[in-house]
Amino acid sequence: MDLHIANKVFIVTGGAKGIGAAISKAIASEGGLVVVAGRNKDDNHTIVDEIVKMHGKAASHTVELGDPEACKELIDFTITKFGRIDGLVNNAGVNDGVGLENGSPEKFNQSLQKNLSHYYNLAHYALPHLKKTKGSIVNIGSKVAVTGQGNTSGYAASKGAINALTREWAVELLPYSIRVNTVLPAEVWTPLYANWIKTFDEPQKKIDSITSKIPFEKRFTTPEEIASTTVFLLSDQSGHTTGQILFVDGGYTHLDRSLT
Ligand code: NAP
Repeated sequence: MDLHIANKVFIVTGGAKGIGAAISKAIASEGGLVVVAGRNKDDNHTIVDEIVKMHGKAASHTVELGDPEACKELIDFTITKFGRIDGLVNNAGVNDGVGLENGSPEKFNQSLQKNLSHYYNLAHYALPHLKKTKGSIVNIGSKVAVTGQGNTSGYAASKGAINALTREWAVELLPYSIRVNTVLPAEVWTPLYANWIKTFDEPQKKIDSITSKIPFEKRFTTPEEIASTTVFLLSDQSGHTTGQILFVDGGYTHLDRSLT
């Protein structure tokens, strides 16, 4: 299937690591131009080098997405560099453990800034350009939005809002033929995930306990499996799919608990 994304321009936030890196590479492997937007310059350069080695095209912009002005600068950078935006992948986020009991109003607001505000800010600033290309937005959510996790109010609130905004933006952007969808992972092995697992006394025991509850093949979802669904949703091959929340999670969220 030709996804028709060759020479189209896509911004991937958090595009240098984990799920974002897999999305950046998947876009490039289909001939798309990627703007990798992450806060670590070295990580950004590493992924751009990898993409260039695979004969893909990419640029990077080092940005702390929690800063609204920096979100505007990312859009300006992309337009100056490539002249157009065909898709935005809102992916960067961190499960930062700001709970109800252990958190504070300040920490909760900071968590929203890290996990939610930049999804809105980037969509807002990219909109005039997406209107010109009839582009597409894909958000990366989390199962926590629908299952809860405990001790992570800021992250859960952000991911819940992202599901709501997916529907809200899909409706608002109907007149412009801009589609908006969310890919919702549950358990994906990434640097973020690896760091979280390290916080347990017996990490391997925790890994075994988690994978035993993933119905499909009792394994983690790979970043590449999230990426291929994301790139399909960016492409016009999914041209009549909008306002959808796709659970790419090996059945973790919805299948019968008795299976595990
Ligand atoms: P990851 O391995 O930590 O990669 C995320 C990348 O985004 C990192 O390069 C990180 O930079 C960057 N980033 C995060 N916040 C940023 C900010 N405010 N400004 C600039 N860059 C920022 O994470 P991941 O596991 O791939 O997660 C990606 C997305 O999937 C997140 O939205 C997460 O909530 C979602 N998700 C993941 C899982 C999972 O199992 N992995 C499950 C459900 C949902 P640093 O390295 O400097 O932090």
